[in-house]
Amino acid sequence: MKTPSGISGIHISTDREDLICYSFDASIAEPALPHAVAWPKNTDEAVRIIKYATENNLHVLPRGAGTGMAGASVPSGTECIVVSLEKMRKILDVDTKNMTAVVEPGVVNGRLQKDLEYLGYFYPPDPASLNICTIGGNVATNAGGPRALKYGVTRDYVMGIEVVLPDGSIINAGSKTRKHVVGYDLKDLLIGSEGTLAITTKIMLRLLPLPEDVITLLVIFKDLESSGLAVSKIISSKIIPRTLEFMDRSSIEAVENYKPTGLPENAEALLLIELDGYPLTVKKEAEKVVDICNRLEGEAIIAEDDIAREQLWEARRSISPALYQIKSAKINEDIVVPRDKIPSILVSLRKISEDTGLKIVSFGHAGDGNIHVNIMADKDDKEEYAKALNAVKKIFEHTLKLGGSISGEHGIGTVKAPYISMEIKERELQLMKGIKGLFDPKGTMNPGKIFI
Ligand SMILES: Cc1cc2nc3c(=O)[nH]c(=O)nc-3n(C[C@H](O)[C@H](O)[C@H](O)COP(=O)(O)OP(=O)(O)OC[C@H]3O[C@@H](n4cnc5c(N)ncnc54)[C@H](O)[C@@H]3O)c2cc1C
Repeated sequence: MKTPSGISGIHISTDREDLICYSFDASIAEPALPHAVAWPKNTDEAVRIIKYATENNLHVLPRGAGTGMAGASVPSGTECIVVSLEKMRKILDVDTKNMTAVVEPGVVNGRLQKDLEYLGYFYPPDPASLNICTIGGNVATNAGGPRALKYGVTRDYVMGIEVVLPDGSIINAGSKTRKHVVGYDLKDLLIGSEGTLAITTKIMLRLLPLPEDVITLLVIFKDLESSGLAVSKIISSKIIPRTLEFMDRSSIEAVENYKPTGLPENAEALLLIELDGYPLTVKKEAEKVVDICNRLEGEAIIAEDDIAREQLWEARRSISPALYQIKSAKINEDIVVPRDKIPSILVSLRKISEDTGLKIVSFGHAGDGNIHVNIMADKDDKEEYAKALNAVKKIFEHTLKLGGSISGEHGIGTVKAPYISMEIKERELQLMKGIKGLFDPKGTMNPGKIFI
């Protein structure tokens, strides 16, 4: 492509191969070719790209690794420039006195985790996609992960953020101080905004000391309700594990068929529980957890070493890719319910599966009530696929009736946009759209996402 003068010197491509590579994300959203893909190397280049786009009535889609599950990183069409932040991947600073790190948006979460662990520090948010997804993407989706139960989600660790607005101005929101009450919190508005307000170009993160000890337990249950009850009982016994992950029978089978790791295939459900902290406390808490599970006829196995622990996590992280072996499409929802409603939602999901004849595979972050519900369907079988899409609405209705929410961590994007008004009232939607208009009066940033 002959680069227009406003953006000369910036790596930009309109080659079909590049456009195809940036036309989809990890959701069921239909891929769409953009106008061009640009790879800024610094904030200044991001400013020039966004100004060029705004002046030429083009759209801008900021993109990390494209692992989004809601269609938010799929281009709006041939008027869209994808701004891939993958070349902005430096860890700029680790301040051990203030326990903060400053990173560029393209830093991969898993790499940051490893580098910090080496220095004795801990960055808790750990989406299962951590070896691919970027911190910029995590901020834009307010990503969670198994450890959210004890440590919270991305929002709880973002102290400051530098963004480029559609008019090319740069703002810095937040502060390096732990406390900060000066006007409206723009930083918190930007977190979770799915690329619809600005391009994030720098992020200051809060760090924790690395916990001294970790114990990982795999608990095998012969019935589904007992696993749900175990989750509520563990939490009500005042123990907060760092993870409390749930896998149902179908997800166990899918993983064992895809990449055998020795998970017990005759189990109805598994819990993957991790406790961390001081060694004596962790040991005591682990004994208490094992006792609670044993009383519900759960059989607990302790991971003996780091290799065994990693193997269990590898199995857990394989569920998503493994499910593609079952059917050509999986409609992946990430509903969240109050923890004490987990047994009820599991029963509702089973009923919907029985009533519709659809295979529904559930797994996820049971400790914080966030269940990944995968409705399996053959995309070429129009009737089955339509039935699966209908089931989504039923699942959302049950979730909202239980006081839950239609998305715990993946966001709305395009895939859940038709359902947002099931949860968010008209007046609140108007306020959200008003905020979007203030940041982005020309509608440059990632149009068609969140609101339809
Ligand atoms: C196998 C698998 C497992 C997953 N597990 C989890 C999980 O446990 N928890 C969880 O929360 N999510 C999970 N996800 C979803 C996904 O990984 C997260 O949403 C992640 O935060 C997306 O990061 P990304 O870099 O891939 O962003 P992308 O997919 O590229 O983008 C996602 C959104 O962020 C915006 N964006 C990206 N970078 C920027 C930026 N610099 N400035 C402004 N906006 C930006 C995009 O416009 C888009 O709206 C999983 C996905 C997969 C495929």
